[in-house]
Amino acid sequence: MTRKIQVKDLSIGGGAPISVQSMCATHTRDIDATLAQIERLREKGADLVRVAVDNKTDVAALAEIRRQTRARLVVDLQENFPLAELVAPHVDKIRYNPGHLHHLDKQKPIAEKVKWLVSIAKAHGLALRVGVNCGSVAPEFLERHPGDHVRAIVESAVWHCDLLDSLHFTHYVVSLKDSDPDKVVLCNQAFAKRRPDVPIHLGVTEAGLLPDGVIKTRLAFEKLIPQGIGDTLRVSLTLTSEDKWQEILWGRRILQDIQAGKFISVPDFGKGLNIISCPSCSRVENGDFVKLAMDVRAMTAYAKEHQLTIAVMGCRVNGPGETDDADLGVWCGPTTVTLKRKSEEIGTFRYDEVLPVLKEKLDQICGKIKV
Ligand code: SF4
Repeated sequence: MTRKIQVKDLSIGGGAPISVQSMCATHTRDIDATLAQIERLREKGADLVRVAVDNKTDVAALAEIRRQTRARLVVDLQENFPLAELVAPHVDKIRYNPGHLHHLDKQKPIAEKVKWLVSIAKAHGLALRVGVNCGSVAPEFLERHPGDHVRAIVESAVWHCDLLDSLHFTHYVVSLKDSDPDKVVLCNQAFAKRRPDVPIHLGVTEAGLLPDGVIKTRLAFEKLIPQGIGDTLRVSLTLTSEDKWQEILWGRRILQDIQAGKFISVPDFGKGLNIISCPSCSRVENGDFVKLAMDVRAMTAYAKEHQLTIAVMGCRVNGPGETDDADLGVWCGPTTVTLKRKSEEIGTFRYDEVLPVLKEKLDQICGKIKV
C-alpha cells in the first residue's frame, strides 16, 4: 500500500478514497473567472483544483483567489519553477515537471533545483507532485533510454523519488502521463513495482474530445485501479472553459463504474486515426483552440482508417514539444497556428487558413500509407 500524504485536510494514498481533480482553463490573472471556475469544480465534487501560474501577475491573482476560496489549490509550475517561492503561501500543493527544470538557471544542477523546491514545500507544509509527462521527458532520460519512452518516463520518476527521499521529504505523489492509454498502464505498473510506497496521480494526458477522451482514460484506469494502482486522478478532456466541470463528472463516473465492476468493451478502439488534444489551461491563448480541435476531428474523419496521430495543442508553452511525436500536429498561438509534421515545422497560419493546409498534408501522408 502507498503511504498516506495530506493536502490540507485531504488524505491521498494509504487506502484513502481515490480523489478526483481538475484544472482551471481560465486565465489565472482573470480572478473572477478563475474563482467562478474553481467554485464550479468544487461544487461538482473536485477534491483538488489545479491552477497554472507563469508570471508575477498570475501570482498576485492567485493570492486574491486564495483569499476568496476554500478549495484545495494546486499550482502548476512548468518552466518558471522559481515562482514556487512566491506561490507557496497561497496553495496546498505544487506540481513540478521534471522535464522543464533544465530550461532556466541552466548552470545549476537539477538536484539543486529540486532541493530548493523541497525547502519551500517544507517551509510552507505543502505537498509536491512530480509530474512526468510524455511530451516533456527530461532530455538526459531520453538520451539514456533511446527509443524506450516508457522506460525514460519511469526512470525519470524513480530518480526524482530517490532524490526526494535523500532530502528526507516524503510528502509527494508522482504522475506518469502519456496520451496512449497502453503506455500509461505500462508506465504506472512499472513505477508501482519499483516504488510501491509512493502515491500515484493517474491520468491520460491529452486524451482529447468526448467521447474518445473518456474511452482512452477508462481503458487505462480500468486496468490500473483494480490492481490497486492510483490514489488520485484527473480525466483530461478537451472541453470549453464553461464545460470544464465535466472532467469531475467523468472522473467520478469512471471510479463508480470500476468500483461496481462495470468495464467497457471497445475491441477496435485505438485502431486507425488517433486525435490527441490537450485539456487546455490558463495558458491557452485563444479560446478558438477547442473549436479548432473539433474542426480537425470533423475534417479528418475521411482518413479514420489510417494509423496516424494528429495532435492539437493549445499553447506555445507545451505545444511545440507535445506535437513532436505526432504525424501531424498543430499548436495554437494568440492569432496563428503552427503546423508541424513530427518535429519539423511546416508553417504558421491563421486559424481560418490552417485546415486546408492540414488536409493537404494529410492527403500526402495517406497516399503513402497502405490502409
Ligand atoms: S498544451 Fe498548453 S494550453 Fe494545453 S494544457 Fe498544456 S499547457 Fe495548457
